[in-house]
This record gives sequence, structure tokens and C-alpha cells, in this order.
Amino acid sequence: MYRKLVENGQTPKVLIVGCCDSRVDPALIFDCAPGDLFVIRNVANLVPPAEDRVGHHGTTAALEYGVRNLDVAHIVVLGHAQCGGIRNLMQAERLNQADSFIDDWMKLVETARTSVMLNMPEASKDKQQRACEQQAILVSLKNLQTFSWISERVDQGSLTLHGWYFDIDEGQLLGYDADTQSFIKL
Ligand SMILES: [Zn+2]
Repeated sequence: MYRKLVENGQTPKVLIVGCCDSRVDPALIFDCAPGDLFVIRNVANLVPPAEDRVGHHGTTAALEYGVRNLDVAHIVVLGHAQCGGIRNLMQAERLNQADSFIDDWMKLVETARTSVMLNMPEASKDKQQRACEQQAILVSLKNLQTFSWISERVDQGSLTLHGWYFDIDEGQLLGYDADTQSFIKL
């Protein structure tokens, strides 16, 4: 199998942005083989918006490779339940630790937390966390479209963006449905 993948090169059609969480390995969840998925994993499966090329943009560089070099047809932002990165974000007081790379990284989806706290202030912490995990996926979907080489392909119909949520409590996969603006069973 590997010899074939070397001879023919890799041609994955699906790029996944997943979380580093050890329980949510995309290849295992989707029962995929080497060569099937181009996977980017970071804390809380976040996509930053297009920015100046200052700094070291690991996630963005990997996205660029998947889209411009490999020409993937789908990008899936794969969120999940019980996400430690989102839990960190929900504990707002922790977001100001000057020496934490995680705090700074999670500020990418601070708007998700703000909207959850505004819309469901009375909900339990578990429900707020779940809502924030799902809202953060939508922020990343929006950020994906700030890259011209992604939005152009989406407009041409050669690239489709998906927001999926793996509910590890139930072993259930949910997908964002734009019509109902909610996550529904796939
Ligand atoms: Zn996570």
C-alpha cells in the first residue's frame, strides 16, 4: 500500500481540521486508510483568518498545501464534545495569562464564547460548552473564506466546506445544516 502511495503520490480529496485531543483521531473515526485524508490538527480545531505573512502560521500553511497543491474537494472543520481548548476558553478569567500560548490561540474564537454567554446565560456549564464548541466551528468556517484561494474555489463549486461535530459521549456525528442553522445527525 505504501509503495503504491509513493509511486502514485497522495491524492486525498478531503482535508480535515481536527483537534489534537487524543480521543478524536479523524482517520480512526472515519475508518480511513493512509492517503485518504489530509489532516491538520491543532488545539480546538481552529482556523485563523487570513493575516499578514508575519509569524509562523502552521495551520494556514497546511491549509494552503491541501488546497493549492493537493486540490482537495472538501474541507471539514471537525469539532467535538468535551473539548479541553473550548473549556479553557469558557473559563474566561484564565484567558489573560501572559505566558500561555493556548489562551492567545483560543482568542481566535472569543466571539463564539461571547455569543453563547449572551444568548444562553442561564444554561448549565455543560450546555454552554457544547454550544461554544459548535459556534467555534462556524467561526472557523467563516475564517476559511477569508483566504482568496479558498473562497474562489467555493464560488466555482470545486471546493465544499463542512462543519461537523463529533459527540464523543454518544459516538454520534453531527453536521451543520445552513437551512435550520443547527447541527443535525448526519
Ligand atoms: Zn478539542
